[in-house]
Amino acid sequence: MFQHKIEDQRRFLIVSNRLPVSIERRRKGLSYRPSVGGLATGLGIFHQLHNSAWVGWPGLVVEEEKEKGEIEEMLQSQFRSYPIFLSRHNIEGYYHGFTNKTIWPLFHYFPQFAKYEVSEWKAYLEVNRLFCKRVTEIARPDDIIWIHDYHLMLLPKLLRKSLPKATIGFFLHIPFPSLEVFRLLPWRKEILEGLLGADLIGFHTFDYARHFLSSLLRLYGLAHEMGQVTAENRLVQVDVFPMGIDVKRFQAEATSSLTEKAVLRFKRKTGNRKIILSVDRLDYTKGIPKRLEAFELFLERHPEWNQKVTLILVVVPSRTKVEPYRLLKRQVDELVGRINGRHSTAGWVPIWYLYRFLSFPTLVTYYRIADVGLITPLRDGMNLVAKEFVATRKEGKGVLILSEMAGASKELGEALIINPNNREETAEAIEEALTMPEDEQISRNRTMQRRLSRYGLSRWADDFISGLLEIKDRQKELETKKLSLSVRNRLIKLYQESSRCLFLLDYDGTLVPLVEQPRKAKPDPELLALLKGLATPPQNTVVLISGRDRETLQNWFKEPDIALVAEHGVWMRRENTHQWRIMDRLSQEWKDWIKPVLERSADRLPGSFVEEKEYSLVCHYRGADPELAVLRAKELMGTLTALTANTDLQVLQGSKVIEVKCASVNKGRAVMNWISGGDFDFILGMGDDWTDEDLFKVLPEGSYSVKVGLGTSNARYYLDSPNDVRQLLKDLLAKET
Ligand code: UDP
Repeated sequence: MFQHKIEDQRRFLIVSNRLPVSIERRRKGLSYRPSVGGLATGLGIFHQLHNSAWVGWPGLVVEEEKEKGEIEEMLQSQFRSYPIFLSRHNIEGYYHGFTNKTIWPLFHYFPQFAKYEVSEWKAYLEVNRLFCKRVTEIARPDDIIWIHDYHLMLLPKLLRKSLPKATIGFFLHIPFPSLEVFRLLPWRKEILEGLLGADLIGFHTFDYARHFLSSLLRLYGLAHEMGQVTAENRLVQVDVFPMGIDVKRFQAEATSSLTEKAVLRFKRKTGNRKIILSVDRLDYTKGIPKRLEAFELFLERHPEWNQKVTLILVVVPSRTKVEPYRLLKRQVDELVGRINGRHSTAGWVPIWYLYRFLSFPTLVTYYRIADVGLITPLRDGMNLVAKEFVATRKEGKGVLILSEMAGASKELGEALIINPNNREETAEAIEEALTMPEDEQISRNRTMQRRLSRYGLSRWADDFISGLLEIKDRQKELETKKLSLSVRNRLIKLYQESSRCLFLLDYDGTLVPLVEQPRKAKPDPELLALLKGLATPPQNTVVLISGRDRETLQNWFKEPDIALVAEHGVWMRRENTHQWRIMDRLSQEWKDWIKPVLERSADRLPGSFVEEKEYSLVCHYRGADPELAVLRAKELMGTLTALTANTDLQVLQGSKVIEVKCASVNKGRAVMNWISGGDFDFILGMGDDWTDEDLFKVLPEGSYSVKVGLGTSNARYYLDSPNDVRQLLKDLLAKET
């Protein structure tokens, strides 16, 4: 049973391309059959055990309204399922088109098969919209919506729009390719944006999650911290959940009396002959031709195995309408024919070729009779067949040969792991598998079986749902810190009643958005007017506290009505004066030995540069390649921390900047010049990065502190953007008049 930590009776709304039941039109009427494939089987069990509903396509085109009604009724009452009816046109563009001809090949590293048709992209968008409409109609406010797979990558964003508060998880069952492949997609940004509508995005392996995060950074400029990204002021978690199988179900079937009898019958026919088994859908990602070639090489190199081994090649028909699949079918047919033609002898055919779908009991019988599982996809998101083969090893005997390109290889390290493009290696692995001592087989399989039992299907679903609820809790926690309307009204009221008001405002990222070139962040007329308005009432004192140098601030804010603090607190210009004062006697000699270190680092990071201020040095890297920047920043932080140990220098890492300055200088210390003895009855401090945390820390009780942007902070409240900061200040002034 699933053990997720949900105390209440929240409903799961599973959304996937196909429903767990498929409808077919037969002569006698409609027939309802369980859908096939890993996703349908795995989630089908989850669906049976839970308070859930399922939304998807039933696999049939239905045009008549009356028939639609009947199907709807039947699916809801018998299968807790809600059909989405797709037209022939939808299916052509979305299913046969975009998902099968664009996403599938590209995400499996077959860019040569990927088509980029605008009309098919539009069909994909349209079908995702249809799903959105249906889910929005069905969803209850506290449903947990769990969207599955590459057919619906735009749905999270669409749903977020129509149901902003919804709990939405997304799981991708196929690989997420590396950036260099993903970037080929003309609609890559839309796909990333679509996925970011979810609260949790799950992948099978760490590599896929890593590729996704790297695409987010490189193509979208979004960095992550421990898999967490802030997208449009919402926290989104990216994590890894390798999908498991229901081990007990497979073990029970493998040891049932019916299976035992079937195995005996089979063995009577094959005698002592060793059986190698491979099972896949007919798909170019599964590497069937390469596997056949490797098997032939094995036969050639090891004639001692002639007549003693048979490869049972189970191929399940799939996507028969798509061109590369048709060609592949022909290629496999020919290869099997050629190998059998060349190597068969009277009474022995090396390959038994089964082109059909096997029922669960039959499939398990085949697993049982197999001595070797030969599973060599060129690329596979997970590959459940590999796990099922291991789970059905009665007494632990049998050897799995597994491609390193299958997600499952990350968990099944005790298998013989091969590169499917390496024919020699695969052929030799077959020989190694056939001759492996039994105790070694048992030891390898037992280790893998234990692992599969620990992280089974229920644990996979449980972990995903727990992860989803955790990120939702974290979002809610942050939400409570958001400056609400009631807090805003209290703040305005206090301001109106106060006789001495102090505004402590950071500049970049707080009053103006962050930009690549710092000099381009010049205050606009609206901001200048706003600050002037704020500084005019005699009871107000406005202090701009910036990391910028004093010349820049002096140029931008010529009027002396507002006070300025430059270089995080090295210099200050009090209100209504023109005079800059240095806070402390500070040394500058350290710059001679720190500057070359920063410059060396900037030289190795195109797009970055070093800024020299009077009492600090800054390396800016907002304009640099984001991934290289992370690496270089880490190196630089390491070097600088070591160099400045036992000195009175401090190294600060801000938003795409690293700054070195005297440790005694900080924004908190600087603002004490106003706070101590200032007798203010209203103080509002606002800032966006961690240099502002020093400011928040020293604010007296009763002050209002506001951080711009999500994240851990000493501030009591947060706002989303500089626009919101300006709006708050405008609201204060509006009450003034
Ligand atoms: N399967 C089946 N009958 C068959 C072949 C496969 O029921 O004749 C099931 C198999 O048990 C597995 C799923 O189909 O659970 C295939 O999942 P996998 O991840 O291996 O490959 P996919 O088809 O999803 O790419």
